[in-house]
Amino acid sequence: MNSNEIDIHKELKKYFGFNQFKGLQEQVIKSILNKENTFVIMPTGGGKSLCYQLPALFNEGTAIVVSPLIALMKNQVDAIRSLSSENGIAHVLNSSLTKTEITQVKKDISSGLTKLLYVAPESLTKEEYLNFLQTVTISFVAIDEAHCISEWGHDFRPEYRNLKHIIKQLGDVPIIGLTATATPKVQEDILKNLDMSDATTYKASFNRPNLYYEVRTKTKNIESDIIRFIKLHKGKSGIIYCLSRKKVEAVAHVLQVNGISAVPYHAGLDAKTRAKHQDMFLMEDVDVVVATIAFGMGIDKPDVRFVIHHDIPKSLESYYQETGRAGRDGGEGHCLAYYSYKDVEKLEKFLSGKPVAEQEIGFALLQEVVAYAETSMSRRKFLLHYFGEEFDNETGDGGDMDDNVRNPKVKKEAKEQVVK
Ligand code: ADP
Ligand code: MG
Repeated sequence: MNSNEIDIHKELKKYFGFNQFKGLQEQVIKSILNKENTFVIMPTGGGKSLCYQLPALFNEGTAIVVSPLIALMKNQVDAIRSLSSENGIAHVLNSSLTKTEITQVKKDISSGLTKLLYVAPESLTKEEYLNFLQTVTISFVAIDEAHCISEWGHDFRPEYRNLKHIIKQLGDVPIIGLTATATPKVQEDILKNLDMSDATTYKASFNRPNLYYEVRTKTKNIESDIIRFIKLHKGKSGIIYCLSRKKVEAVAHVLQVNGISAVPYHAGLDAKTRAKHQDMFLMEDVDVVVATIAFGMGIDKPDVRFVIHHDIPKSLESYYQETGRAGRDGGEGHCLAYYSYKDVEKLEKFLSGKPVAEQEIGFALLQEVVAYAETSMSRRKFLLHYFGEEFDNETGDGGDMDDNVRNPKVKKEAKEQVVK
């Protein structure tokens, strides 16, 4: 099938009910339909899934989608099934399936019914599955969260390193890599590991013009400073990120005592409490959730008005992801980070227990966070530069939306006061 023969706008409307493509979707889909290796870099929420789902639905054969999280795969399969009257249109292939289920999946793929097959990378390596997949028509392989292939990414998964080797055994099928990690190092790694230097790259801008970036020096008065900040944003939704579970509990407690409706969220809480606290936040029964980074994956609350980093994150990718949960609706989003060198040392100490290669990468990533926190230049410019994007804060969208650009002098005085 050729992209010129298909009205992809019509297909978009037919399957998803959308009237137009978002950002670079149309170009990406055309590239996939032309059977080119394709590399897609778009921020979270940019609409990456549709880039492979839509062409998969009307391509001949089955598209394999590699994804690292079973929960995410299940969500996507459910979403695709709801678009069709055939359950077999999308399947997950993983170790949790029964023999009968596996037989059904294979049958649906062989008959051409299944358009999307979601697999975890470790399932794909299974001899049995691989042998079967070699006998059917594969339209393309999409590798979602492709940064998992790189040690420079925030979520390295060694199994991703085998993918190229496995895909080669499926024959000459196009590969689509997708990620929201925009650092040039990670991108290089992805292209190298998937052996697709020939890929056409589609990269969206990572600028979030409605977010205001601010860094404050962390002092022992941080809690009262946060309380003051929240009271100035009364009734608004916000997330406070802390590095440890203990800190999460302590901060949530201080807020509650001070009359702010807040709940803790971290992996140490049982699943039921976590789900309850998440729902309370989504339903606006509470204003603030105090959380470790365990909170946020797949959370799509459009009107989060502030994200506070009580402790600095371990990389600028994490910072961007976490601050990115503010202002999804395009409205106000205040991103406030507290910075002290002591926290950096804590993180360094934590890293020193890790294997040497991991340490080196960890230190390098952390140094970028330090540079960001200490810079006096436009934070947006700094951040976008880190993601390989040039930004002119004199003319660019949101160019004056950070503390350094808005009031450089006031900030310096505040710093001097703290030092005293
Ligand atoms: P990503 O994987 O890049 O983080 P998703 O694929 O999860 O993003 O998409 C984010 C949201 O955007 C979803 O709710 C999806 O339904 C929506 N979306 C995707 N494409 C379009 C479009 N063309 N028009 C309107 N909404 C879209
Ligand atoms: Mg995605």
